[in-house]
Amino acid sequence: MTAPRLEIDLSKVHHNARRLVQLLGARGVEVLGVTKAVLGSAEVARVLVDAGVVGLGDSRIENIEAMRRDGVQVSLALIRSPMLSQAERVVQAADLSFNTELKVLRALSRAAEARHVVHGVVLMIELGDLREGVMPDDVIETVRQILSLANIKLRGIGANLACRSGVMPDDRNMAALSAQAESIERTFGISLDIVSGGNSANIQWALGTSQLGRINHLRLGESILLGRETVARQPIAGLFTDAVTLIAEVIETKTKPSMPWGQRGEPAFEETIAPVDRGLADQSILALGHQDTDPTGLQPPSGVTIVGASSDHLIVGSSERRLSVGDELGFSPNYSAMVRSMTSPFVHKEMKGRLARESKPALLQAAALKASPAAKRASGISPLPTGG
Ligand SMILES: *Cc1c(COP(=O)(O)O)cnc(C)c1O
Repeated sequence: MTAPRLEIDLSKVHHNARRLVQLLGARGVEVLGVTKAVLGSAEVARVLVDAGVVGLGDSRIENIEAMRRDGVQVSLALIRSPMLSQAERVVQAADLSFNTELKVLRALSRAAEARHVVHGVVLMIELGDLREGVMPDDVIETVRQILSLANIKLRGIGANLACRSGVMPDDRNMAALSAQAESIERTFGISLDIVSGGNSANIQWALGTSQLGRINHLRLGESILLGRETVARQPIAGLFTDAVTLIAEVIETKTKPSMPWGQRGEPAFEETIAPVDRGLADQSILALGHQDTDPTGLQPPSGVTIVGASSDHLIVGSSERRLSVGDELGFSPNYSAMVRSMTSPFVHKEMKGRLARESKPALLQAAALKASPAAKRASGISPLPTGG
């Protein structure tokens, strides 16, 4: 089989998504499946829909367009504020977009009018992580303007934490989001169906808090694919942490000195580990590098240590057995390594597991019909602690 390749076990992804849908559904929180890390893969999309997500979200319009082309039948949301230059494409391909700028919202309304449709929007509110969102004091005035746009329907509000500054979701900032929802509803006499609390960093809070407030929606990507929450990257109980594996092939094995010789300048990339003199040592090279993944985000198999990386070479030491040219090694990627591998044209993508080869469109339609009840059919499952 060809290498390097990213193997995605769809049965495990399905299990993870289903379990999160059930755990959160039991608390009244729906899950939007986020597909950006898999570039809007229709196969992963189909699995998420079948697991009961309420819709799919992606930060890039290209991925949403790809899922549309592949016949994905659920609600598709653009979860990054649309580029002004892409308003037409957004209205055409996405049912919903997450927004922070009135200039963009006006363009979306004009584009929706031209297509004789109404475009749904979620207004993102800044809660302290300093990424996207309108400042809390500007929310009411922004909503007033949104409600005056003829072809825009305000579906709800949302917030994003943890991604830029590491600000953690807690009872305090989530209560602030709930309070915003109530204040909007009171001021304008409307009701908001979506109050989207955040991403995979919100899971522990959402499963543990006694003050869920109005939060009824989370947008989950990494936790579904990698089985970990994202505050401390702890495994979530009952989820697979090995659904995604990056496989690479050995192209050289030699016994070499552990110290480089000659005068040394800057290496091409920052070294993974500074060399230590251990005399002669076996070292192997895998055909994998910065152009294929983030080498610092790889967990090697046991007995193997990553000692260096450049654009197309990953250098490893092996304590248990001497690796042979042609051997394959499997690594567990973190989010950064997984995203870079998905995005590299040199890395083959291999969907595995029992869900990998069923007929797409039929299954998707069936899944779309039962997606919403599935999210609510979640009784009888007690939330487990989410790791330590
Ligand atoms: C990427 C993203 C998510 C999903 O984050 P995960 O950590 O992968 O769960 C949710 N919301 C927004 C706005 C995002 O950009």
